[in-house]
Amino acid sequence: MSSTQSLSIGIAGAGLLGRLLAWQLSRAGHRVSVFDVARGPGPVFRSQADDSDVPTAAGFTAAGMLSPLAELDTVEPAVAALGWRSIALWRDIAAALPQRPMFRSEGSLMLAHREDLGAAQRVLERLRTACETQAWQNLSPPEGVQPLELARLRELEPALQGPAHAWLLPGEGQLDAVAMMMALHDDSPGAQWHWSRPVRCVEENGTLHFADGGQAAFDAVIDTRGVGAQASRQGACASASPVFDVRGVRGEVIWLQAPAHGLTRLTRLLHPRHGIYIVPRSPDLLLIGASELETEDRSPASLRSTVELLAAAHSAMPALAEARILRLDVNLRPALPDNNPCTEWRGRCLRINGLFRHGWLLAPALTEQAMQLTGWLK
Ligand SMILES: Cc1cc2nc3c(=O)[nH]c(=O)nc-3n(C[C@H](O)[C@H](O)[C@H](O)COP(=O)(O)OP(=O)(O)OC[C@H]3O[C@@H](n4cnc5c(N)ncnc54)[C@H](O)[C@@H]3O)c2cc1C
Repeated sequence: MSSTQSLSIGIAGAGLLGRLLAWQLSRAGHRVSVFDVARGPGPVFRSQADDSDVPTAAGFTAAGMLSPLAELDTVEPAVAALGWRSIALWRDIAAALPQRPMFRSEGSLMLAHREDLGAAQRVLERLRTACETQAWQNLSPPEGVQPLELARLRELEPALQGPAHAWLLPGEGQLDAVAMMMALHDDSPGAQWHWSRPVRCVEENGTLHFADGGQAAFDAVIDTRGVGAQASRQGACASASPVFDVRGVRGEVIWLQAPAHGLTRLTRLLHPRHGIYIVPRSPDLLLIGASELETEDRSPASLRSTVELLAAAHSAMPALAEARILRLDVNLRPALPDNNPCTEWRGRCLRINGLFRHGWLLAPALTEQAMQLTGWLK
């Protein structure tokens, strides 16, 4: 398959990866058809869903944090470092989209209450050690975690009145995940979108098999079904190649309406039991997240998670007392056994999965690597 040819490409899954690839490939002149189990392109939040077994893209639920430094606490340096490349790519993507979805990269904050300083220092030590590895330094990231005087914190973010200790993570960023998902869909020239069309399996010979028994052949196919690519959900498909051993990891987030909240940077609260973040999505809207539970339960948010997330957010930002709870959303992060992403290119089939809690952080860097592998964008 020559890269200069216009190929017919079938994509299974119109979540974060599926939309990003559809946007990139259709702009490059390929004929792209995307198939998804969802009823339409817009977000469906768990509180709206009428059937808790229908998957919806995790990409819509995500807070949209782009945090290579902070994620060093949970992911290998070589993987987290890809986040710096993604931040540069998201900047270009956001600028190229006519809708101009929100993208920012002026750094993020880490905070700790006085009594949690010991736990915070252990996290910071792990980040410092990871920053010294060759894999991290090869990518020449900006400087590491910087301690921040309280007076400077109050200047930068007057809304953060609770915590006694603060650090700045230069270069980290965030984007509006819902707006970006919609913009990638709306701006994919000529891509054909097929909703309510679940794909049962994706074959190496370039065939998509649908749950309704139909099938379609393409020059190449891409499997970006996230948790939906689980072997147990595939059904029988005689010559399908082995699929990833993907599992879903439950996450709960809370949307708050907080008029003129004043917060401008993504903020994490270091805590002995929970990793909690507050993400400003607009001048009146904040997201509080997220739980991380080893279960594929998609049922509504639990009282325990809701109370813990909101109590921690309120302790960092006391003015949230009068915020209104707009939505409690739940979704599953697609994770592989080692919690690292994986790309596989065999025959006429590209599969990418396992983006876990870092999908927005990694997606553009991973699709860039995949395009080098396949030669589709040269
Ligand atoms: C609570 C939460 C917070 C998060 N916060 C962040 C964050 O701040 N930063 C970050 O980098 N990442 C974050 N993530 C992770 C990120 O959302 C995921 O890693 C990313 O969405 C994975 O992208 P994907 O395209 O593989 O899967 P998805 O976005 O889940 O898309 C999969 C698509 O496949 C479709 N599908 C499923 N089964 C089928 C089928 N059989 N046939 C056809 N289509 C199918 C689904 O409907 C969906 O549209 C968060 C995730 C959660 C749940």
